[in-house]
Parts: sequence; structure tokens; C-alpha cells
Amino acid sequence: MFLASSTDLRRLVAQLQHTHDVWAPQPDPGSGQVFFDRLADAERWSPGAPLPAMPPKEVFLPQMDCILRYRYDRQRQEATLWPSVDERPKALVGIRPCDLAGLQCLDRFLIGQDFVDEVYLAHRRKTLIVVETCTEPFPHCFCVCTDSGPAAREGYDLSITDIGDGNEPLYLAEAGSDEGRALAEAGGWPVAGRREVERGREVVDRSIARFPDLAKKNKAWISRTMNRVTTGFIKPGTWEYVGRQCFECGGCSFVCPTCSCFTIEDVACGADVWERLRTRDSCSLEGYTRMAGDHNPRKPVEDRRNKRFFCKLSYAQSKKYLRPGCVGCGRCVWVCPGDIGMPNVVRYIHREVAD
Ligand code: SF4
Ligand code: SF4
Ligand code: SF4
Repeated sequence: MFLASSTDLRRLVAQLQHTHDVWAPQPDPGSGQVFFDRLADAERWSPGAPLPAMPPKEVFLPQMDCILRYRYDRQRQEATLWPSVDERPKALVGIRPCDLAGLQCLDRFLIGQDFVDEVYLAHRRKTLIVVETCTEPFPHCFCVCTDSGPAAREGYDLSITDIGDGNEPLYLAEAGSDEGRALAEAGGWPVAGRREVERGREVVDRSIARFPDLAKKNKAWISRTMNRVTTGFIKPGTWEYVGRQCFECGGCSFVCPTCSCFTIEDVACGADVWERLRTRDSCSLEGYTRMAGDHNPRKPVEDRRNKRFFCKLSYAQSKKYLRPGCVGCGRCVWVCPGDIGMPNVVRYIHREVAD
């Protein structure tokens, strides 16, 4: 473990900008809302900033991505392909632990199984990650229920925790890879002593204690809900109730760090030249499962809501992700106009179990 000051970290970021496309949380000067965006200036990185409105999946699975260009010669019936992949090394600085867990879900789903998504892999292959421990939870956070925060346990190159006295930040920096260690050593960061390591543990314990009681109580509820969702032992009335609340806007999927659904569309962009675009999709939208001939196996909205929560909480999905499909970031609570973010649905199911 090492110690780093704010100046050390900004120096590191400035140095990474020579070799990497650096992404970090930055407050929007107009709205004050925080976004995880490309960092043009190391000074704009805002350590300690609240959880960004959108998860960093934008870096690897953007809202819209041109994955291929092609020309089709109609006379010869021949196609010429120009794959469009972004292989620049990327550095994610200040990603929060829940979002890192979300990224690991995407990795397991898109490149960790039999079929590898080559476009995602090209975006993701050379990534350096500096994760920031949350020294206190933000509103709606419940990572303590889903085992994904407030400190990261794996998947990073450097994990930083502010152990300062509240006036001047001082970061305890743990290397999670040879690359992370090399960066800390190259920066001349001193090795942390026993007291500082102990202080790092205290900061995480204090952060856990600051989660609202509701989040702490949800821990048991979530495991019981996982059991119910997996066994299908939920009264149909519950999904109908959830379905009636849903506006079918898709917001919960777009902001969720673990949602990976997308659709593909070919768009003409010149004489006989097309671009193949990948755009995000959502299981809440009726068209998502509509097939040729207008057949739709998930036409009623409650069937689509049922699908979302099965995807987040079932054992089958946990086996795929090697963890629950919800990382407790709370973004679906922020965005849902129908008030059916994850904790509320867990509560509805729990209420049914208790009845
Ligand atoms: S959910 Fe946990 S890890 Fe994510 S921002 Fe909130 S406190 Fe941090
Ligand atoms: S389901 Fe909601 S709380 Fe869970 S990871 Fe997705 S957006 Fe975050
Ligand atoms: S954000 Fe809420 S209302 Fe919109 S699709 Fe998701 S569950 Fe339905």
C-alpha cells in the first residue's frame, strides 16, 4: 500500500493523458450534475464527487456505436467491410466500486462466455482502472446489500481511499496489478505504514455504518427475494402491480451499470455505403421482443418487468455474472417515474413473503 496526495494523483492523471484516453467523474458547470466523461484537463477531475448520473458503460458500450462500415457492389454482389473498432488504451479514474462491479458483470456477459463480443473486447482490452472508495454513501446507495461497495475488492489497478483529516485529502493507494504498482513507484509515492492501513479500514467501516437502516435491512430481503425470483415463487399479482406502475420509458436499463441489451441497425451513409450502428435497447420497451409477424412473447408490461428483475436477481443470472446482477448503485431509483426502482420491488416481494 502507498500514500498519495491530491497533487500526486493529478500528476498521475496528467501523465496518463499522454498514453490513454482518460475518463473521470466531472461536474457539469451548468447543472452541477456529475458525469463520467472524457477528461480534457486533469484539473477538472473531481475526487469525492457524487456517483455520476450515468455509469461508465458509456466507455465500452456507448449509447450509439458505429461497429462496421461496408460498401455493397450490387452488380458484382460483393461487400467490402471496414470494421470500426476503437482500440486506444483507456484509463478510468475515480470509478466507484459499484460501477466497477457493474463493469465486471458486462465483462462476464460479453467476453467471458463461449461467444466473445469483439467490439466490446476491442474497447475494453487495454484499460487501466483507478477505483475510489466511497467514504460515505450517496442518497439511494445500497451496495452493502449487493456486496459491491463501498470499497472495491478486485478488478482494479489502483484503489484509492481518502484517509485525510477532512481538510486535506490523503489517499491510501492499494495496487491491484503490476501496472498499478509500477505507477505508484514511478510517482515516488511513499509506502503506507501500519497506522495508515488501519485508518483505511476504519474509514470503510465508518462508511458502512453510515448507510441508512433501510439499506442494511434490505440485505436479508435481497437474498430472500433472489430465492423467490429464482424459484418463480411470486404471486402474479405482484408483477401486475409493478407492471401497472411502469411507464415503459427504458430509463432503468439505460442508467443501469449491468444492463447490456442492444440492437443493431444499418444506416445508409452514401452511395452503396452503410454504417452498422449498435445502440442500447431496453427489455422494458414493447418492441424489444417483438418478432417478425408481430408476435411478441412479452407483450404485457408485467412480463417485461418480471424479466428485468429476473435478470438482476435470479440465481441463473448470478451464475452468469458470478454475482447478483444488481450492484446497488441506486440509479434506477433516481430515474424511475413509476417509483419501482430495485429497493421498492424488493420490498413489494418481501411484503408478499411476509403476508
Ligand atoms: S452504491 Fe456504494 S460503491 Fe456505489 S457510489 Fe454508492 S456507496 Fe459508492
Ligand atoms: S438495478 Fe438499479 S440499483 Fe441495481 S445496478 Fe441496476 S440501476 Fe443500479
Ligand atoms: S424507469 Fe421505471 S417507468 Fe421507466 S421503464 Fe424502468 S421501471 Fe418502467
